Amino acid sequence: MSVYLDSNATSQVHPEVVEAVLPFLTSHWHNPSSGYRAGQEVKSAVEVARGQVADMIGASPGEIVFTGCGTESNNMALEAAAKAAGSTAPVAISAIEHSAVYRPAEALAERDHLLTVIGVDEKGLIRRDEFDRMLDHSPPGVLSIMWANNETGVVQPMAELATRAKAAGWLVHTDAIQAAAKIPIDVKEVPVDYLSLSGHKFHAPKGVGALFIREGAPFSPLARGGGQEGGRRSGTENVAYDIGLGSACEIMRGELAGGGMDRVERLRNHLEESLSERIPDLHFNGARGHRTPNVAHVSFDGCSAADLLPLLDAEGVQCSAGSACMTGKNRPSHVQKAMGFDDRRAFSSLRLSLSIFSTRSDVDYAVGVLANVIAKVRSAVAVS
Ligand code: PLP
Repeated sequence: MSVYLDSNATSQVHPEVVEAVLPFLTSHWHNPSSGYRAGQEVKSAVEVARGQVADMIGASPGEIVFTGCGTESNNMALEAAAKAAGSTAPVAISAIEHSAVYRPAEALAERDHLLTVIGVDEKGLIRRDEFDRMLDHSPPGVLSIMWANNETGVVQPMAELATRAKAAGWLVHTDAIQAAAKIPIDVKEVPVDYLSLSGHKFHAPKGVGALFIREGAPFSPLARGGGQEGGRRSGTENVAYDIGLGSACEIMRGELAGGGMDRVERLRNHLEESLSERIPDLHFNGARGHRTPNVAHVSFDGCSAADLLPLLDAEGVQCSAGSACMTGKNRPSHVQKAMGFDDRRAFSSLRLSLSIFSTRSDVDYAVGVLANVIAKVRSAVAVS
């Protein structure tokens, strides 16, 4: 048996997405910039996909730029916002950002931008006192706060944070890569200027993303050339995957509206209840009631995730210790350190992340394996 509980690392491509993509690799392979009918049909299909992406987040199609991945979306947004804010404008991020925001923000700090890193509390929520103090005492600049954390699933009050920062004159970006398609997003209610998406986190293929750029928000492109994507990202479109992203957005909009993610949440809650019943001395991390519905983040006293993961894998349970990008890096997660966990707790944590394809039998099997493996590791530690 093989059970996949790592959907925050990447998710299974939806069979309907595969069906939507294939014709654009086989029969409709023409260049959407070509003037003849076959090219124009491809162009129309890309525009339908753009509309599907826009619809999932309450945007207009013209506010959506297809990109090569979430990392690219984040880099595009931060560079453009910093350029518009001015060469010495401050940049602020949260302490739990993904490296795809942290590294570009650090690169801006190596130029003339002053970087402020805003802390989180032990539940992973932004410290409002630090946030407010920064806005009160700093000239306006560029703010980037992730909507939902990739490790803990903790969801920030984006509407409140963005409204407050906009009122203080800041340009606001959010990395919504782990929030999109898991919780409802409506950019009409959350006044961010830029919002990043990544297809492979919600059943589109890897290697396609999107950046929402609010109409009127300043933007200058990183990739200049033939003027595709309204001049905001030149380069011949990745037609098939753009269409895959559109299809995944359409599917997930239906799942959100039709209760699909509520089912995932019930399954996640069942997972947490079963773990509590079967395994002593564990801790669930992250603000309860402020998490994406698909993530359980758990620390198991007396265990190291590095010991657990290969044993779980051998029994067919795939999950992770933090983000996929941290695999093989022998450092405690910066997210858990920012939440104030000591190294021992940070090294004992697992992220179990579900998707619409997860089933109750997957969860029950994984809980049984976890209970056995953890008992084994704890008794080995006790003997040694
Ligand atoms: N931001 C967050 C919160 C993520 O979880 C990820 C992927 O793990 C990324 C950015 C990077 O996205 P991509 O893999 O599409 O570059």
